[in-house]
Amino acid sequence: MNNTILKYDAVALFSAGLDSLLAAKMIMAQGLTVKCLHFTSPFFGKPEKIPHWRAIHGLDIEAVDIGEAYVKMMLAGPKFGFGKFFNPCVDCKIIMLSHARRLMERFGATFIISGEVVGQRPMSQRRDAMNSVRNESETKDILLRPLCAKQLDPTPMEESGLVDRERLCGIFGRGRSEQQAMAKDFGITEIPTPGGGCLLTESASARRYGPVFEHIKTPTADDFHLANAGRQLWAGTHWLSMGRNQGSNDRLSALAREDDLIFDVRDFPGPRGVGRQIGDDWSATAVAEAAALVASYAPKSVRLGGPVVVTISHRGAQYTVSVEPSRTPAMGWVETSWEDAQPTRNRMDTQDR
Ligand code: SF4
Repeated sequence: MNNTILKYDAVALFSAGLDSLLAAKMIMAQGLTVKCLHFTSPFFGKPEKIPHWRAIHGLDIEAVDIGEAYVKMMLAGPKFGFGKFFNPCVDCKIIMLSHARRLMERFGATFIISGEVVGQRPMSQRRDAMNSVRNESETKDILLRPLCAKQLDPTPMEESGLVDRERLCGIFGRGRSEQQAMAKDFGITEIPTPGGGCLLTESASARRYGPVFEHIKTPTADDFHLANAGRQLWAGTHWLSMGRNQGSNDRLSALAREDDLIFDVRDFPGPRGVGRQIGDDWSATAVAEAAALVASYAPKSVRLGGPVVVTISHRGAQYTVSVEPSRTPAMGWVETSWEDAQPTRNRMDTQDR
């Protein structure tokens, strides 16, 4: 942990998007000290970029992993429902602010900053949603939204004079021109693009999460990290993740658990496969089909034709199977589309209850 200062005036929700960056800068410009909290989960967060952000923005940033709590919130069904895909934006803000509130004491902070702007986003930044976020996270008197403060009632921090309300903004709506101008004034040269890359808002990644929620009773954050890696194939409750390149092969190796089945083509370069067993151990047929799929993505083995030997590692032991490479084995392995995943999202969505 980077604890150069033991007592901060505020903790800030720091996604590294422009709004959160400006919110922290505005408060620091008033001579106050700010600890930026960069929340991470399988779905958002880039903790590996923190050293870069510290260097270019001059901020004091710390990563906070909320992955497990986040998955639990989604499993329970987000109280305010999902957006278009698996994004529970209102509940997401609530969980982040609740965590920030609990961390205030550790950092000696007396208030929390967020970069929200009234009217900027249809789901989480409507005025009523922002009130729900503040109330549900129990941050009513300690939450300051510097970018749109003048659109809102004064907070105790402004009333007491700790924060100068006159130097806060009254931004409203979806425009970005005021933020761009402020970025220029603050000398921010590397301006982050809006959005922040949350995987829950993109069909290409959200489709990967449907079967995890569908088939695993209590999935963990690690299950979703696995779902993010490489190619994802499902046959009922059989789950096979396969590398697309050396990077995703390495990622799969890092994510594999003792109980997973690891597939490697023995005599040629190819993808690594990770079979995660949900419930019962896989049958010999399922193992052979997964091996045939892995072999089918090893170009040299396919080119040479004939049976391919695949090594399977499981619980510290190894054995081999000889298979014909095949992308259409009988169990019907498929990559889930968003249309396939959508019914799971709809079932979990509390808005319709
Ligand atoms: S886009 Fe993602 S990170 Fe942002 S509020 Fe929504 S769920 Fe949370």
